[in-house]
Amino acid sequence: MKKLTGLQIQKYLPKTNCKECGSNTCMAFAMKLAAKKADLADCPYASDEAKAVLGAAAEPPVRPVTFGADKSLVLGEETVFYRHEKTYVHQTALAVNVNDTDEPQALEKTLQTIADYKMERVGETLVIDMVAVTNKSGDSRRYLNLVNKAYDIVKRPLILRSDDSKILVEAAAAISGTGSLLASATSKNADELVKAASENGHALGVTAPNLNELTTLTTAIKEKGFNNLVLQFQTHSLAEQFQINSMARKAALKDNLKSLGYPTLKFLDASDYSDTIVAGVNEITKFGGICVLPEFDPSQLVALMTSRMNIYTDPQKPIQVEPDIYAVGEPGPESPVFVTTNFSLTYFIISGEIENSGLSAWLVVPECEGMSVLTSWAAGKFSASSIAKFIQEKDLEGKVDSRQLIIPGYVSQISGELEDCLPGWKVVVGPQESADIESFISKILAA
Ligand code: SF4
Repeated sequence: MKKLTGLQIQKYLPKTNCKECGSNTCMAFAMKLAAKKADLADCPYASDEAKAVLGAAAEPPVRPVTFGADKSLVLGEETVFYRHEKTYVHQTALAVNVNDTDEPQALEKTLQTIADYKMERVGETLVIDMVAVTNKSGDSRRYLNLVNKAYDIVKRPLILRSDDSKILVEAAAAISGTGSLLASATSKNADELVKAASENGHALGVTAPNLNELTTLTTAIKEKGFNNLVLQFQTHSLAEQFQINSMARKAALKDNLKSLGYPTLKFLDASDYSDTIVAGVNEITKFGGICVLPEFDPSQLVALMTSRMNIYTDPQKPIQVEPDIYAVGEPGPESPVFVTTNFSLTYFIISGEIENSGLSAWLVVPECEGMSVLTSWAAGKFSASSIAKFIQEKDLEGKVDSRQLIIPGYVSQISGELEDCLPGWKVVVGPQESADIESFISKILAA
């Protein structure tokens, strides 16, 4: 269905301008619907015809597909091509592949490592989202053993991958109800795999040699009543993958082409360590739904998880820590006092550098709406008066004997005013760069 304009949508609305939807007129509400910034359910007087027509038009251009027994992993629902147009909604899921030809004991150890893997970054705990289990042996019993074992150990949705559709059907039944993914249906085996996915509550990967054939296949599957699909493009180079990912997403968002409006699945090759990371970053930055690493490699995971966090963190909602006075190490009343903003990245970098120096200190973190030092200073959120007010409200003077406050080098200009606001305190200008904190601390200790 083509994307409807505000004018076309307005024809289906009651045109009474009653304002109950929160818009002043039906036309204004129609414009919001066209921009996908409102929900038809907000109009209590929408007719059944309007619901039938506009409900389909209001569907997100990229269909949400859920994974996991509790459906907690969601992909799709994206509405914009560029993040700055609004925001990206669901981040790329990262998965790790295991093969049924690997040695059983080593496999068990790898699965346990995957289950236990955690990465802490700016206060968030990141884990591996899914595990792909690849049938290389062609042996169904061996594959089913591994599938069962993998789910028992990792307790996360699996990606069942086999060229043999009969083996996939058996594996789908073996882990029925786990909200996993079958990879992948072609025009030849689609009927069989749709049935297996549907009966066992899994999503289905769909693949074809080109976008035209893929469109035909997803349309045919949807017409049969199954719509829990994930697209797997058959590409032969990084450039082609970049291009096809972008074309498919553009067709879904700009042309409202429902047959390509699904999350995607990409298995990365193990050809070269760096190439694998580059291909993974391509998926993360270019609309990838699920990105499967060829094997467990923590260094690749760190690179991809960090990259993913950068792309999928909404800049309009910076990650922040609670404003407070934090103890870094085991500070006492005489320990030095640093001050910084409550932007998570800044907080964790500064506290990490202090910790690395071996020094214990107090870290004063006033409310700065999650902005970095210079941004919050420019916005008037990290001023001499706001820092002094926070220190007084938190009764820092009752907790520490030290009367020396170390401020970030980038806001040296507030030092005089801050001393005026905090009688009895000496304000010391610290380094501009966090990397210089350790040498700065050495100088304090030597003084
Ligand atoms: S609630 Fe419905 S009828 Fe009333 S103004 Fe909004 S769109 Fe129009």
